[in-house]
Amino acid sequence: MGLVKLYDGPAPFTCNCGNWREHFNKFSTQWVIWCAETTCERIALNGALVQVYKSRNAEIFVVPLCNFHTRTTKLIDIGEVDPVNIMQDICKQHKA
Ligand SMILES: [Zn+2]
Ligand SMILES: [Zn+2]
Repeated sequence: MGLVKLYDGPAPFTCNCGNWREHFNKFSTQWVIWCAETTCERIALNGALVQVYKSRNAEIFVVPLCNFHTRTTKLIDIGEVDPVNIMQDICKQHKA
């Protein structure tokens, strides 16, 4: 997928999966354990909301990141990890 930046606004809806990390597990076809940042070797404890760098639209995605990368202000290279588009996989109507 390439470069993403952390989304710094409020989440557009409340995820019903428990948290965004669970949301990623539920909707991703990939099973990601380690932080999505390509060079990072920490465990991905968080589901972070991100936007694709230089994308024309404002779509919001979730990717698994470690505690450090959940707070970075820099661009994050997530390499081969496919972020989950949270607007396509709306879980708010579903009962958890
Ligand atoms: Zn969810
Ligand atoms: Zn990391």
